[in-house]
Amino acid sequence: MTIQEKYNLRKVINARGPATILGASKVSDAVRQDIYDILGESVETWELQRRANEAIVKLTGAEAGCVVGCCSAGMAIATAACLTGDNISRIKALPDVTWDKKKVLIQKGQVTGAGDCPVYQVIKICGAQYIEIGEALDCATYHLRDALDKDTAAAFFIMGDVFAPNLLPLDVFVSICKEKDIPVIVDAAYLTDFRMLAKIGVDLAIYSGQKWLGGCTSGIVAGRKDLVHACYLQELGIGRPMKVGKEGMISIISTINQWLNRDSKAIIYAQTKLATNLKKCIEKFDGVTCKIEQQHLYSPSVRLDVDIDRTITKIPAWVINDEIGKLDPVVKTDDYYVNNGRIIFDFTLISPGEEMIIAEYFEQLLSGQRAVEGYSSENIPIPETRQDVIHNIFEQWLDGNPRE
Ligand SMILES: *Cc1c(COP(=O)(O)O)cnc(C)c1O
Repeated sequence: MTIQEKYNLRKVINARGPATILGASKVSDAVRQDIYDILGESVETWELQRRANEAIVKLTGAEAGCVVGCCSAGMAIATAACLTGDNISRIKALPDVTWDKKKVLIQKGQVTGAGDCPVYQVIKICGAQYIEIGEALDCATYHLRDALDKDTAAAFFIMGDVFAPNLLPLDVFVSICKEKDIPVIVDAAYLTDFRMLAKIGVDLAIYSGQKWLGGCTSGIVAGRKDLVHACYLQELGIGRPMKVGKEGMISIISTINQWLNRDSKAIIYAQTKLATNLKKCIEKFDGVTCKIEQQHLYSPSVRLDVDIDRTITKIPAWVINDEIGKLDPVVKTDDYYVNNGRIIFDFTLISPGEEMIIAEYFEQLLSGQRAVEGYSSENIPIPETRQDVIHNIFEQWLDGNPRE
């Protein structure tokens, strides 16, 4: 009996990648064994954190690192650390900041989600005075220079490839903050290069333990030793309700070891094979164009980018995506551009054979064999945005199956 059968869950074919909402990574046997073993033991958590520090230093090249509950927790804890330093009475005072140095700023064009919650929430939760600089599409050096004053505790930067091209790039952002001795916190939850941020001189970088590293829910804060120590001390204060357990700590040590010894070539080879199988099956339909891609910095995976011309297929990408997300097994894709006609399949978590189930769904929908309830080419419902889809699922959680 599978775990899904045992607990009445639907099987998920995850073509989206290690998203938190889909349970993040499928954890390997080796890492699961370490988690399993530590769960049966008592440990001194400070010692486990000390060993994790050694692994994180090896991975990142930073001075120090500690394990946190997840990335959004790490963002809040890093912010708290910049507000309090190692002053325990200040740590215990948060979220009341009774001293002047409390401003935390971010470029307006980077105000995105820290996962599914907005980034400003994880900053404000500590009691910081939150400040946006620049405009949605632009931020100039003068915006940053003018905003950095003696009351600035930290500046936030989000790593990603979805931002407007005229925001300040990381190296410029860091060098201006260094002029005024203001620490820079970087959200690097999706970054695959674990060494570039320490080289650039980032003060605190936050990485995910459950995304590309492939572990259980956990995060890493790596950077300057004094600030990482201040992060660790938040466990005595605002970090407590976001705490990480021994399973998360051992997972970081174990996955770092796995990451540093992985055979990338073999992984890419296996993923390319599955992507090619899927591509062959669906590109034979008129109006469907497929491209196999690898983009490296924000994904180590092979991805299949499928462009659907609705004037030819008569069924738009978002209707296909919605429908395959309701079947059994459900197929979850990277749907970021689905309202623009593109469905992207990430092959990190697709097992051999699952690509053929996706291919079959596509064939049924594009050939018209499978009708979509409430949809016809004359009656096309208004597309929902990505956030609408997520909100609907959350709202309908207890009342029946939100996917039906
Ligand atoms: C996933 C993600 C987060 C949140 O990570 P959690 O570990 O789920 O809290 C924050 N920022 C970015 C850029 C992410 O991709």
